[in-house]
Amino acid sequence: MKYEFIKRENLKEKPHGELGFGKYFTDYMFSMDYTDQVGWHDVKILPYGDVNLNPATMVLHYAQETFEGLKAYRGADGKVYLFRPEMNARRFINSNKRMCMPIVPEDLFIGAIEELVKVEEAWIPEKEGESLYIRPFMFANETSVGVHVAKTYKFLIIASPVGAYYPQGIDPVKIYVEDEYVRASPGGTGFVKCGGNYAASLIGQAKAEELGYTQVLWLDGVHRRYVEEVGSMNAMFVIDGKVITAPIEGTVLPGVTRDSILKLLEEYGYEVVEKHLSIDELIEAARSKKLTEAFGTGTAAVISPIGELYYKGEKVQVNDFKTGNLTHRLYKDLTDIQWAKVEDKYAWRREVK
Ligand SMILES: *Cc1c(COP(=O)(O)O)cnc(C)c1O
Repeated sequence: MKYEFIKRENLKEKPHGELGFGKYFTDYMFSMDYTDQVGWHDVKILPYGDVNLNPATMVLHYAQETFEGLKAYRGADGKVYLFRPEMNARRFINSNKRMCMPIVPEDLFIGAIEELVKVEEAWIPEKEGESLYIRPFMFANETSVGVHVAKTYKFLIIASPVGAYYPQGIDPVKIYVEDEYVRASPGGTGFVKCGGNYAASLIGQAKAEELGYTQVLWLDGVHRRYVEEVGSMNAMFVIDGKVITAPIEGTVLPGVTRDSILKLLEEYGYEVVEKHLSIDELIEAARSKKLTEAFGTGTAAVISPIGELYYKGEKVQVNDFKTGNLTHRLYKDLTDIQWAKVEDKYAWRREVK
């Protein structure tokens, strides 16, 4: 890939101790610009730093913004890997089409990530469970306050070394079932990874936190009845030995982790059912203990067990607020593939070289 490399004078000092999530950023970022006449141009890797914006920059007013999230891993063999980046590339194309934004071709998207990861190889942490989180994103940077599809865009990739999500073992979380606000509805942008979806859902998150809950379980936008997803994760429920998750029909984000977990479950011999599961059926299954495990899936945590659900004044526990065996097994098997501790039988790893 051809790009301009603008070196910085001094490299930053690497963080010591706990990395947390999204607190530190590497020395460089990838950048390119789009105009409808020229297409993508001004491709470069430059020092990480501020982006200057005119107050009339369209994204600040009309929110044409999309993003992705994936990780680079230091494998057990010392090599550097991405996990299924073509899935992120394709999802980014679908997101941008829905938002009337230009697409980044798959090979350009993956090539840009690989070039940045190569430049920043020293930033990929090596401790157990740590990785380099990669955040590609695009926004409308035309200056205008008239409402229209913008003609110019900026695409950036930044990277952040992140700590192990579960330094003390996998702990279940308490989930608030939101029955007032909705995240997505048919014909909307539920399947799109865009900042606007998060802006509209923060109120549910704030309400949950006020009541002592970590995350929100969203119900469908039409009936407020069928379970869709949890915050920034897809949701799965093990009822009577079957694994149930919401179908990908436009209102749920098609997670890379969701897809990978479903493949592992099939390999284990589980029956996976993608269907509209009503909240009443879910609560009843929890009361009668037919709901044996429940968890969220996403790149940051991989898998996050749900230990308690709160719905309309009632609290129900899942598996006595303990992390279940299936959750443990899925976490181990998926992370073993990501950190190259086992053979890559599904060809999910992509070595960066
Ligand atoms: C990113 C995201 C997910 C999880 O997707 P992964 O590709 O598994 O990280 C789920 N739900 C929402 C709303 C998201 O933004």
